Amino acid sequence: MSAFERIEELRELINRYDYEYYSLAQPSISDYEYDMLMKELEKLEHEHPELVTATSPTQRVSGQPTKEFPTIIHKSPMLSLANTYNEQEIIEFDNRTRSVLGSDANIEYVIELKIDGLAVSLVYENGIFIRGAKRGDGVQGDDVTNNLKTIRSIPLKISSDIEIPGEFEVRGEVYLPKSSFEAINNERRNNDEAEFANPRNAAAGSLSMHDSSIVASRKLLMFSYYFASEDSRFQFKTHLDNLEHLKKLRFMVNPNYKLCKSIDEIIAFLKKWEAKRDSLPYEIDGAVIKVNSIEQQRTLGNTSKSPRWAISYKFKATQAETRINQITWQVGRTGIITPVAELNPVFLAGTTVSRATLHNTDEIKRKDIREGDYVFIEKGGDIIPKVVEVVFSKREKDSEPATIPKFCPDCKTELIRTEGEVAIRCPNLQCPAQITRRIEHFASRSAMDIEGMGTSLVELLAKEGMLNDVSDIYGLEAEKVQNLERMGKKSADNLIQSIEKSKTQDLYRFIFALGIPYIGVNAAKILSHHFKSLEKIQFATLDELVDIEGIGEKMAQSIVAFFNKDKNNELLKRLKNAGVSPKIPEMNSTETQPLDGKIFVITGTLPGMSREEAKALIEKYGGKTTSSVSQNTDYLLAGENAGSKLSKAKSIGTDIIDLTILKEMIRT
Ligand code: NAD
Repeated sequence: MSAFERIEELRELINRYDYEYYSLAQPSISDYEYDMLMKELEKLEHEHPELVTATSPTQRVSGQPTKEFPTIIHKSPMLSLANTYNEQEIIEFDNRTRSVLGSDANIEYVIELKIDGLAVSLVYENGIFIRGAKRGDGVQGDDVTNNLKTIRSIPLKISSDIEIPGEFEVRGEVYLPKSSFEAINNERRNNDEAEFANPRNAAAGSLSMHDSSIVASRKLLMFSYYFASEDSRFQFKTHLDNLEHLKKLRFMVNPNYKLCKSIDEIIAFLKKWEAKRDSLPYEIDGAVIKVNSIEQQRTLGNTSKSPRWAISYKFKATQAETRINQITWQVGRTGIITPVAELNPVFLAGTTVSRATLHNTDEIKRKDIREGDYVFIEKGGDIIPKVVEVVFSKREKDSEPATIPKFCPDCKTELIRTEGEVAIRCPNLQCPAQITRRIEHFASRSAMDIEGMGTSLVELLAKEGMLNDVSDIYGLEAEKVQNLERMGKKSADNLIQSIEKSKTQDLYRFIFALGIPYIGVNAAKILSHHFKSLEKIQFATLDELVDIEGIGEKMAQSIVAFFNKDKNNELLKRLKNAGVSPKIPEMNSTETQPLDGKIFVITGTLPGMSREEAKALIEKYGGKTTSSVSQNTDYLLAGENAGSKLSKAKSIGTDIIDLTILKEMIRT
């Protein structure tokens, strides 16, 4: 595979995982695995700078405003943090800092716990909390003021005997204490609802709810770590001063931070908290190391994604030991057979785990995993745990290597293994298990979002012969469904309503729902935005497809192959006849860039934003920047003390805008 193809593949994967993590609060891989994909992409882009694009996940803060709430544009970008996993990377960070600040600079670091929650920004005017938002894409995030008002550690009004500036901003981490997390999951289990994988996802899910009274019952809290004001009397010299000031204003500041003058002190802090993390009443996933001096922070500046003056150190995922009682084989929607370890239930990072994925047969052989083995399992912030290693000292004497199946566990067809692939698969497209998985995928939340149509109902309907392919969904009748086990009139009616609603689902969801190999949510969005009609995608040629940015060769081939099959076209016809008519994307879909094709020149001093940040902001939203004003310039972004560029723009009639107008332009 060429570097270009791998880069495309990594971007597609990362975008998919971002969507699952940030929008659905349902990650499907561990944070560590995610971070390793990101590191691989960073490395490849570093080796091939010509392939870097402004929209690559390496160049921007992940996440999106959801559009379910009004959005707020942040006063200054809310950035992510560069991640490290070992001491060597911390030393490299220190070296980089010293090389920018000079060898004689006196550098102090503050190290804090990295709370596993989500960042929010709070704005206060005259001591009153007036507005609060989630980080979103770093530039703008959901306005969740009402939900934030339910959090008891957020002061709604600052005590009048404390001197404060007219306006200030506080940022911090909203989190769910472990005890509240367990209570919520217990309730969800009792109600037969999907449990949250970890407190972070639960906090994110809670803050996105529309009913603030439910949010209040979730008992979220917030630790604050950032204070900013434009009033010079309140611009403190160090990060520690800011933390002290936050405490004075009665914000909750996590007490476990330390001023460090050397890397050794930092490493000692990391060791101490890695060992003690389980004793805390909230989850932490690492620590954050920040340059203490605000002036030095300014000198170091930011990239478009993260500050150069801070770095996070992520702890290794927590592990638990348990026994594999059995290895079972699961048939996926594309026929891939995945081995699963059925475990002695064990409590791990907030949930009870009874199954772990074994990925594929190579993994079983490589780690020599057998039924009856004691193993270490790991979650690391994700839903599906995996087996890290076997405890060979505890292996029973008569244990046998795992038997790799030759026939499909469901339809008994002989399994195949394509040259160069690790997966074994069932080639029978009519295999009942595959059909069920395909229907399940079609109805799932990130695809057609048919509420109520989860795994157990799909399995039941398939067993009853009521579902043979996805088009049968649209032929279901409430009268028949309500007679099924565990269904009643109300749930059957709700299901039919939800099915009806899905007929006009967004086109990208429909494309994703079709389950075309290699086409994830992001590729589906690109296709939908580019072609704006299903028919046009159906008839697109390979050349047309590979010309689209974000669609690689492998994806293009897969799309063409999918629509070349009569069977698939017949299915599309049946869906159309059943009334399925996906909506054409609106212009403000997430793939649309509000500044697409516009050319900007930046001049003067911008309030609260460096020119570098403004450039990154423009590029993030599809615009381009050049250094001099010409007939081709669409806008001059002018700050204070703009000079000759402003005169030139005026003389040739270029539109002149300020930062407020730019922020309005990108408000989607
Ligand atoms: P991050 O979580 O690595 O670090 C930045 C965030 O740390 C800040 O935005 C803030 O919310 C938080 N934070 C906690 N304590 C803090 C403190 N004391 N000071 C400052 N910030 C503090 O970065 P991110 O951009 O929020 O998320 C990216 C990470 O999320 C990835 O590295 C990955 O681990 C995870 N992720 C996982 C998946 C997945 O599928 N598993 C998908 C996307 C992202």
